[in-house]
Amino acid sequence: MSIWLDEHEHSYQKVESDIEVDHLIVGAGITGITLAYLLSKKGKSVTLIDANRLMNGTTGHTTAKITAQHALIYDEFKSNIGKSNARIHYEGAVDAAKHIQSTIQELAIDCDYEKKDSILYATSDRYVQKLEQEEKAYDALNIPYEHTQIDMLSSKKALKMANQAEMHPTKYLSALVHEITRAGGTIYENTVAVNINHGEQTVVETSDGNQITCSNVYICSHFPFYEAVIFIFPDLPLNDPT
Ligand SMILES: Cc1cc2nc3c(=O)[nH]c(=O)nc-3n(C[C@H](O)[C@H](O)[C@H](O)COP(=O)(O)OP(=O)(O)OC[C@H]3O[C@@H](n4cnc5c(N)ncnc54)[C@H](O)[C@@H]3O)c2cc1C
Repeated sequence: MSIWLDEHEHSYQKVESDIEVDHLIVGAGITGITLAYLLSKKGKSVTLIDANRLMNGTTGHTTAKITAQHALIYDEFKSNIGKSNARIHYEGAVDAAKHIQSTIQELAIDCDYEKKDSILYATSDRYVQKLEQEEKAYDALNIPYEHTQIDMLSSKKALKMANQAEMHPTKYLSALVHEITRAGGTIYENTVAVNINHGEQTVVETSDGNQITCSNVYICSHFPFYEAVIFIFPDLPLNDPT
């Protein structure tokens, strides 16, 4: 059950034969749809496939907040991946939020977008301690925040990141899907990628036994379906995916 998916009425056919495409994106959640949109905006020929219906994975079931504040992450990141990588994560979240806002403005998307504060709060002494650790991490990483109080919830400590946002994710993504198809992009649903063969050409195999030959494949399936020997994550700025 998801309140976001009621609004989403797209329906696309599945891949039913061998096909040849240029840029193949596997997985049509926010990651795959955003990538397909950015590539098609650059004039690339894109094909997007999903094992199920579009947006029906994690994206269709989120709490829909757009924020750099997701639970108690920065203290953990600082300890586990180091200060500069933790800061990169924060900046990535801020850039992604700006990207969503500017896309909404550019395409005039009606998706209930609203600026909101994000607040992490503790109601027990144990979590006050954890929040104190998180606050130290914010300070170390130079992340802006304010102290606040939520009387209604009897919070003992609360950290606010101002100027975050919320939106209706499938209304937002439906507008991107519209742009992708308007630019000539092709979409298939109910098409499960099961393997990638890297021979002379890159071929993605589907669970129905069909082959999708492509010049580039992008795995946006949230959970990997393909056991690559190594994964290389190039520096991929949001405004320049090629
Ligand atoms: C309960 C919950 C609440 C959340 N709330 C927030 C929030 O408020 N704010 C926030 O920023 N993040 C939130 N998140 C995290 C966020 O939702 C996810 O990080 C984001 O939606 C992931 O998007 P995605 O496109 O990478 O993956 P998904 O949305 O899962 O999309 C992956 C797609 O790939 C398809 N797929 C998978 N395997 C294959 C295959 N083999 N072949 C073809 N297709 C395949 C799936 O069907 C799916 O549609 C939340 C997550 C959860 C679980």
